[in-house]
Amino acid sequence: MSDSPPPDKRLPALSDLYREVILDHYRNPRGRKEIECPDAVSEGQNPLCGDEVKVALKFDGDVVKDVAVVGRGCAISTAAGSMLAELLPGKSREEAELLAGFVQRMMRGEVDPSEFDAGDLDALAGVRQFPVRVKCALLAWLTLAEALESWRRKKAEEPR
Ligand code: ZN
Repeated sequence: MSDSPPPDKRLPALSDLYREVILDHYRNPRGRKEIECPDAVSEGQNPLCGDEVKVALKFDGDVVKDVAVVGRGCAISTAAGSMLAELLPGKSREEAELLAGFVQRMMRGEVDPSEFDAGDLDALAGVRQFPVRVKCALLAWLTLAEALESWRRKKAEEPR
């Protein structure tokens, strides 16, 4: 019975999962609102964890003017969506696509958060130690990528 390690040694990396910045985004998620007549909407689920998210975008020309991220789920998925809502306004569609790609590569361990303008996203890098939770961190970003793609198709079909 005395063999079991003390609680703080048993789960040594849990503090990497729930960094303070992640908890802050979880408690006060940015972009949690509805946008009237959004230009692009996409919904995503992560059945492994039960996370659900809806990402809605409003564009001004080619620039993201407003972002809404609503859903329910764990701290990681909520925080990742909140970071998305914080980072996206003012970015062009292309910049938003690049960022979504970077986040996916970061969560796969292919790039370091210091290699791009990651904002609070660097806090998510610690989640890489928990492969099951990587899907939580990526849900909002994959959903964003779908919304951006649907908007790109919509623009391509518009008469000029
Ligand atoms: Zn989750």
